[in-house]
Amino acid sequence: MPNIRRATNKDNICVLTFDREGSSANIFDKRTLLELEGHIDAIRNEKPRGLVITSAKDSIFIAGADLNTLAGLRDEELKSYIELGQSIFNSIAELKMPTVAAIHGACLGGGYEICLACDYRIATDDRSTKIGLPEVNLGILPAWGGSSRLPRLIGIPGALDVILAGRILPAIPALKRGMIDLIAPREYLMQAALKHAGGHKPRRFASRILYSAPVNKVVALALRKYVTIKTLERTHGHYPAVEEAMDVILRGSGELSIARSLLLEAEAVTRLAKTPVSKNLIRLFFFQEGARKLSYPGVQKLPPRKIVRAAVIGAGVMGASIAQWLSARGIRVILKDIDAARVAAGMDRIMQLFASAYKRHTFTFVEARDGVDRISPTPVDVPMKNVEIIVEAAVEKMDLKKKVFARLDEQAPADAILATNTSALSITEIAAATKNPERVVGIHFFNPVHKMQLVEVVVGKQTKPDVAQRAIRFVQQIGKLPVVVQDSPGFLVNRILLPYLVEAAALFEAGAPTEVLDDAMLDFGMPMGPMRLIDEVGVDIAADVAMTLAGTFKDRLKMSEVLPKMIEAGLLGRKSGAGFYTYKSKEPRVNPQAAKFCNETSAAGFNPGELQRRMVLLMVNEAARCLEEKIVMKAGDVDFGMVMGTGFAPFRGGPLAYADAETPAKIVEDMKTLVLAAGPQYEPCTLLAEMAVTGRKFYEEDEPGKTDPDASSTKTTLP
Ligand code: NAD
Repeated sequence: MPNIRRATNKDNICVLTFDREGSSANIFDKRTLLELEGHIDAIRNEKPRGLVITSAKDSIFIAGADLNTLAGLRDEELKSYIELGQSIFNSIAELKMPTVAAIHGACLGGGYEICLACDYRIATDDRSTKIGLPEVNLGILPAWGGSSRLPRLIGIPGALDVILAGRILPAIPALKRGMIDLIAPREYLMQAALKHAGGHKPRRFASRILYSAPVNKVVALALRKYVTIKTLERTHGHYPAVEEAMDVILRGSGELSIARSLLLEAEAVTRLAKTPVSKNLIRLFFFQEGARKLSYPGVQKLPPRKIVRAAVIGAGVMGASIAQWLSARGIRVILKDIDAARVAAGMDRIMQLFASAYKRHTFTFVEARDGVDRISPTPVDVPMKNVEIIVEAAVEKMDLKKKVFARLDEQAPADAILATNTSALSITEIAAATKNPERVVGIHFFNPVHKMQLVEVVVGKQTKPDVAQRAIRFVQQIGKLPVVVQDSPGFLVNRILLPYLVEAAALFEAGAPTEVLDDAMLDFGMPMGPMRLIDEVGVDIAADVAMTLAGTFKDRLKMSEVLPKMIEAGLLGRKSGAGFYTYKSKEPRVNPQAAKFCNETSAAGFNPGELQRRMVLLMVNEAARCLEEKIVMKAGDVDFGMVMGTGFAPFRGGPLAYADAETPAKIVEDMKTLVLAAGPQYEPCTLLAEMAVTGRKFYEEDEPGKTDPDASSTKTTLP
């Protein structure tokens, strides 16, 4: 079946409509490219007055190149695939008639590169319209003309900003940057596109002229220096695609012809696609796609049913943010706290979230107002007869949660899901406070809710598979990415994170300076050092979760004295203005007050590499243990959870992919040395020890997204 339709109207304007058979998305696979090539050949012969390129899909223009195709290509095949795309887009750029891209929905990567080959770009202001070149996030660069044509359209500085950050923008900011020429309401999109394809020229925006100011050699040199410094601050040199993209943009858009610039693109992408970084990033992309389609093993297909009414219990940091996220996705929400002042504070937070989303053009004013209107705040019990799901986000105390759940069990309709957002408490124990424990499940959002895509769906001992499946569906419905986790202290992400944070605090106590610990982990590729992270989470909260976990994992989670002492001194982290850092100035500064809690010097002389190794190994070991204990189903779940939930160095692919790269044998050898030097927390888990002997790995070589089918872990099935 064809993926593209071609029709010419009475005014002799040809319209190419992308409409991939049996899919809600358009993508560029080889077949679609060849089909497009055939149409362009025909158009060249037919010579219509103008050409419009558009999509028939509801929320996607063209989502980019097919990564399955890309991941499976060997060197030469990849080169010819890239050249095929370049040559087809070149032939669009060379057409003698006006060409217009009529964009509605996601227009990403190759999807935007075809638009760049057109004369004009018109987009709808719909929320689904998102425009950008996110290739560097996959460890590659735009190579179907994006790295050559965008700088020529909007100027080198503008293009560097968009491409090096892999930016995806709504229509209005894209217009301001000159990436598109015009915005039209969806119902007038085709009308506007046909008019421009008929010869009408759009007005260029002043801001676009500003962005595309010409860049001479001296400026280009200064720009390279400046952008390199800024980029390295962000990437620590771990993302070769960013550097290659900068090089192609600066060299290719200076004095080179577009043909030479395209050659640079093709050479760079062929080099980059082979790197472990790109393989890791593409594998993570597949995990995200997998999460979007995830279902609970063994559950028969449930009738599609969207949740439209929910309740959130607790209007604090998490409760208010969850309520805002749900209402922004069209769900009516009852928001309950214990008194009017707390409810009002929660509503304030919700208003702020909507206001900043409005400023970022995520919502229109009317959408934001409607979002606020869908929330019914209350400090008292109200009927919950129509509610389909209740998310509890009250304070982290088992007794309190049990009381709340016993009451909710009475109030909620029999088929409503009762979910808790607890960070580490037992779902099974909370569920035991109800008469229907099979409908209790953990739905663990991460903070800040509007930024963190991951949600852990935690399955208690008695949670019914149907309930788990409905919880997964709910998470997918609200645009988050679920990972299914068995009920165990700290679930997945916090369980792996905490030994690392506790060790960082212990190393600090033993004399390792705050900034050295943090820099060591920034260098490893974490988005934030462990000491800053403890401050952000809150010293008291981190200590609390660590204590909960220490109750179960006694041998390997020895709490140092630092955190309790800091709590006593009122140094709770960012929220109290000081923790390991002070937060009075614009940039956080190391807090000299905290130094008095470091009472040893044994770690003072450790170099950053040693510190980094110690902290990382504990994460790797706990990650492997989660698999060994079947907390999750497969290695990919662990790595996906850690990258999405903590920002674990994405280019390394997650802690288990990192273990593969290092080899389990090397990890185990280093850990055994540390057992003697640092303590029993470094004892390697059984799975790692066994893999060190057999030489087995967590992932099959060279195949992004596939885990080793023989690994004991991957045989795991959920109960
Ligand atoms: P918070 O202290 O900001 O808010 C808790 C709110 O619950 C308060 O407003 C409190 O008045 C209210 N509350 C207490 N008892 C209540 C009751 N009986 N009925 C209704 N409301 C009640 O706490 P938070 O940070 O929002 O955390 C809430 C939950 O989310 C906790 O279980 C926590 O472990 C979990 N969590 C927190 C984070 C985080 O980073 N803050 C991240 C993930 C999960």
